[in-house]
Amino acid sequence: MLVVSTIADLRRALARAPRPVGLVPTMGYLHEGHASLVRRARRECAFVTASIFVNPTQFGPAEDLAKYPRDLPRDLAMLEREGTDLVFTPSPEDIYPKGFDTWVDVGAMTKRLEGEVRPGHFRGVTTVVLKLFNEFRAERAYFGQKDAQQVLVVKRMAADLDTGTEVVVCPTVREPDGLAMSSRNTYLKPEERKAATVLYRSLCHAQELCSGGERNAETLRRAVRDVLATEPRARVQYVSIADQATLEELDRVDQPALVSMAVLVGATRLIDNILL
Ligand code: AMP
Repeated sequence: MLVVSTIADLRRALARAPRPVGLVPTMGYLHEGHASLVRRARRECAFVTASIFVNPTQFGPAEDLAKYPRDLPRDLAMLEREGTDLVFTPSPEDIYPKGFDTWVDVGAMTKRLEGEVRPGHFRGVTTVVLKLFNEFRAERAYFGQKDAQQVLVVKRMAADLDTGTEVVVCPTVREPDGLAMSSRNTYLKPEERKAATVLYRSLCHAQELCSGGERNAETLRRAVRDVLATEPRARVQYVSIADQATLEELDRVDQPALVSMAVLVGATRLIDNILL
C-alpha cells in the first residue's frame, strides 16, 4: 500500500494505476463503516484508493475541528488490512494553498436539514470532494448512507458538474445495539453511549408505524420525537420526514421518504436516518 501526501506524488502514483479506480474519501479515525466502503470498492475496482483529510472548511467556527479524533497509524493499518492500494493524506495547505478562493455551492438542497443547522458545511464538503474527484479521476467514489444528505448533495454536484465519477452509496453500518458507527461516537461518555441508542430506536418506531399503514408525516415526526423525549440526555435539533430526492418536507408518506435527525447527546452531535 502506497501512502502519499502531496498532489504531485498522488498524480505520479495514479498515472500507473490499473482501471477502474475506486475512491473512498474519509476524515480518518476509521471504523467498520469506512471499512465496508473499502470492501465494496475492492470488489468493484482494480485499484482501491482512500483519502484521509479532516477538511477544515466543512467545520463551523464553533465546531469540533481541533478535537476531531485522529489516529493515522491505526487508520493506515486498517486500510492495508482491507486491501487498499493507495492512501492520500494531504495537509490543509496541500488542499487549500495560499490564495485559494473558489467554492462549489450546490443549491436549495444544501439549505435544509444539516445545511440549516451548519451553514457553510456543504460548501466545504462539495469543494473538497470536487477537488478529490478532479485529482483522482476515479471511475467510482464510495459514500455512506449514514450521511444521507451528503450523498444527495454530492450526487447533485457530480451530475451538474460532469465529474465523470459515479457516486456509489453503501448502507449504514451499525453497532450491535443499533447505534450508527461514527468517528464522533468516541466523544460519548459511557452513560451517553447507552443513551445514544435512542436515535435508532426512534427510527425503527417510525418504520414500524409506517409499515402498519401510518401515512401522516406529522404523526410520524411526533412519534419519533416522543421516543427521543424518553431519553433525558438527548436534545433534538431536527426530526425530518422528507422526499428522498429533493429533501422537501412531506405532509404524507406516499412516496419514498427519508427520516433523518440530528440529536445532541450530552455535547456530542449525532445524526442518523432510515429510508421509508
Ligand atoms: P467521515 O470520515 O465521517 O467523513 O466518513 C467518510 C465516509 O464514510 C462517508 O461517506 C460516510 O458517509 C461513510 N460512513 C461513515 N460512517 C458510516 C457508517 N456507519 N456506515 C456506512 N458508511 C459510513
